[in-house]
Amino acid sequence: MIQDIAPHQYDNAYKPEAPDRKSVALYYEEGKCLADLSQDEIRFPTFAEMEKIKPEIYEEYTYLFSIDHQKYYLITDLNPELLSNYNMENTEIFRHEAPRYRAFAGITGYQLYRWYQSRRFCGKCGSRTRMDKKERMLYCEKCGSMEYPKICPAVIIAVTDGDRILMSKYAGRVYKKYALLAGFVEIGETVEETVRREVMEEVGLKVKNIRYYKSQPWSFSDTLLMGFYCELDGGDKITLDQEELALAEWFDRRDIPEVASHESLTNEMMMKFKREGSV
Ligand SMILES: [Zn+2]
Repeated sequence: MIQDIAPHQYDNAYKPEAPDRKSVALYYEEGKCLADLSQDEIRFPTFAEMEKIKPEIYEEYTYLFSIDHQKYYLITDLNPELLSNYNMENTEIFRHEAPRYRAFAGITGYQLYRWYQSRRFCGKCGSRTRMDKKERMLYCEKCGSMEYPKICPAVIIAVTDGDRILMSKYAGRVYKKYALLAGFVEIGETVEETVRREVMEEVGLKVKNIRYYKSQPWSFSDTLLMGFYCELDGGDKITLDQEELALAEWFDRRDIPEVASHESLTNEMMMKFKREGSV
């Protein structure tokens, strides 16, 4: 999956030390990231390259994380056109470009970028927020508000019935392939209750024997995905929520379309059921 980058090691402990010349500088604009794809792999600029166009770069940085002891920082206020070889690339490239650990760094940095961008001011009193030195947190000196990175918990649900699995297509989205049911956790409910509620809302079915499978950070949508398998409880007649779904139908596991991409938890769960049956 997208977060599986072994043998590389992602370390997100918050250690806001100063960058060195080998550190990576991630620069974003809405939906775009500064990268070089000309050598059939993703390359991000280092501080050694950046210092030529922005000498004060060592003074204005935001520490993000490290991978294999190389530190990654967020850079703002830059004219990206000054850096030859690099272009503003669509962040969707991180779904498929190699090497995978840099794609993971790129999309993870993008989620942090969006959070920092959208929390520059306190949501309670409107004052400017400041970065804490000990943890990844923004705080307001005036009213004491604290803001932590935005992560939205959501569930992915594989409803099975013997050798059958329920597959769907979402309405009004670019992504037209078969998917599993999914939905965000609401305030005041457990994730198991989210599973029951979403299945009832989207297809009008009851489920039982809900089992947690795996989780996945999905920075494209600020989400932490939690995958569950569960079994149909009672009648199998689907009542489609047409605002959410374009289609939902039962598939024999042998008929599940083969998916080449292994980036998403959804695909892994579908392929596991296709290969192994009851999970
Ligand atoms: Zn405030």
